[in-house]
Amino acid sequence: MKKIAIIIPCYNEEEVLSFFYEEVKKHFLSEYDFKLVFVDDGSRDKTLEKIKALSEKDENVKYLSFSRNFGKEAAMFAGLEAAKKLNVDAAILIDADLQDPPSLIPEMLRYYSEGYKHIYTKHKTRKGEPFLKTIFAMMFYKTYSKLTGNQNMTRGARDFCLLDRDVIEAFLSVKDYRRFTKGIFTWVGFEKKCIEFDYVPRVAGKTKWSFKKLFHYALLGIKQFSHVYLLLPNLLIFLCLLLIAGEIGLGIYQQFNFLALRIEFLALLILIGIKYLMRLIYDVRDQGLNRPIYLTKDTNIVGNIYDKIS
Ligand code: UDP
Ligand code: MG
Repeated sequence: MKKIAIIIPCYNEEEVLSFFYEEVKKHFLSEYDFKLVFVDDGSRDKTLEKIKALSEKDENVKYLSFSRNFGKEAAMFAGLEAAKKLNVDAAILIDADLQDPPSLIPEMLRYYSEGYKHIYTKHKTRKGEPFLKTIFAMMFYKTYSKLTGNQNMTRGARDFCLLDRDVIEAFLSVKDYRRFTKGIFTWVGFEKKCIEFDYVPRVAGKTKWSFKKLFHYALLGIKQFSHVYLLLPNLLIFLCLLLIAGEIGLGIYQQFNFLALRIEFLALLILIGIKYLMRLIYDVRDQGLNRPIYLTKDTNIVGNIYDKIS
């Protein structure tokens, strides 16, 4: 019997957990052995208590709880590490708030049995989503594919997906400290199959993604997978060339002398360059420090709670 892990990142989701549990179980197929892997991402409400209560009445409920909030990207990584530990054949990543319909699980498994290794999902339309989010997403995908030269990133793909062992292994082999999962899935390759569905609102609770958080996440994606770091120096060089051309022009006509202004402008360009370099060093430092992507404070998957699952 094939073993499937359902991985659920949870951050302050006490209101939705029992709805989720009841709903997801309706879509389990008898020919598979399902394990529910809840990843408590440092919740401050009763999420962990609720998960533990579920694990007490259902031995297929596994959990791990972070020492603090590390973010959804880290939670997905940890969930997949746990899936590997549980020796599953495939894993399904799904949100806790029922915005990813568990009713699609049987369809995902059908494609999986046909041999697809990565089955992802996306909304048919963005109807129901806040207008600003839609505009922002459209701008992001345009900029992303331009700057990364990658037209293949699945536009509008959700994190809700099924991954087989090979893809899990490939995904886990990417140790980026700041993770942009959508980009990593494209980067690792493997043939993908898409399932489309209509937008579903949250069953309860509130979104954990502020506009600011989404903006920084989008920026991270572009930085991680493009040559954008090389573009600014190009722009600065271009501006300097313009300045020199202007100098020559002024030299010829001898009409004005903007010396002070020109020095200030040059200083400004240099400062922009330095700031940019510092940012780059800071980003490289994040990776160089080699800190763990998450830390576990409690789990029913391994014996020692202080062990990082790997
Ligand atoms: N989530 C998480 N850590 C975070 C933020 C969110 O594990 O720091 C989880 C959250 O509990 C949910 C999923 O990621 O299961 C998606 O979050 P949310 O529904 O808030 O995002 P949205 O659907 O609004 O994009
Ligand atoms: Mg949601």
